[in-house]
Amino acid sequence: MTVAASEPYPSHKKPSSEDCAEAVTALASMHGLPSVRHKVKEESKTVLEECHSTTESVLDSLVKTILSQNTTDVQSSKGFRALKAVYPTWDAVRLAPAAAVEAPVKSCGLAEIKVARIQSILNTLMEEKGECTLEYVRKMSEEEVKTELCRFNGVGPKTAACVLMFTLGRAEFPVDTHVWRISKQQGWVPAAATRETTYEHMNKRVPDELKYDLHCLLVEHGKRCLNCAKGGKPRFTPLGECPLVALARAKKQKKRAAGSPARSLATTDGKKPAEVRAIKTEPVDFSSGGGGGEAEIES
Ligand SMILES: [Zn+2]
Repeated sequence: MTVAASEPYPSHKKPSSEDCAEAVTALASMHGLPSVRHKVKEESKTVLEECHSTTESVLDSLVKTILSQNTTDVQSSKGFRALKAVYPTWDAVRLAPAAAVEAPVKSCGLAEIKVARIQSILNTLMEEKGECTLEYVRKMSEEEVKTELCRFNGVGPKTAACVLMFTLGRAEFPVDTHVWRISKQQGWVPAAATRETTYEHMNKRVPDELKYDLHCLLVEHGKRCLNCAKGGKPRFTPLGECPLVALARAKKQKKRAAGSPARSLATTDGKKPAEVRAIKTEPVDFSSGGGGGEAEIES
């Protein structure tokens, strides 16, 4: 798979740096800031967060990410640990019969496909480098790392981006299903954007210093929000009103207030704009129920 470095939506100016910073602040108010989070609950810890370690080998990270494809983090973590317990080295994994390697990673699903891909990567590395290692990519540029990893069957831009961000500590913004869905919902990419074009667009738009936090927050939020989870069915218990909805509402009110002389009323007493305008332009009449003929739907 090739890695496009193009900008698929050059005229789409969202998200701005400010949009990204505001989203990070809003989401962190609910989930905490990932880059400074001390301890995460087991259920909210993603396999990718587990990867985040300066001592972890690049190959461990790549295999872990391959195992995490199309399954839950809990299942893939379990499979990875079981694999490491049975096979202490990657060369042992390479030489073992496929069926024997599939057994410990059954919990990850698609074990046959994933093991075939992992063993193929290990064989390629042994042929080319004489050992099962990917540590040499640490010296490469981001683009070189992407090209190097994406040449392996089963390794796409998202997997490469995860390795870059979590293990190599590079400024990357992987787009998984949660990031993709919420990016569309927020209007950060056009509704027809694919995961790949979303990745290309967001990597250009999200400021480097916010990439890690925004990625982790969107992944976690996508599992815990009635508004942002797939099909409105969060995997974990929702934590309250969606901070992104609250943020959009606050921005809308601020915008309205900025365009109206009744700024202080609109921003401090929480009245609907129609009521605020009514107060400003005609005798106050709350008996009408407010809103007049200019009812607005609250989001
Ligand atoms: Zn939400």
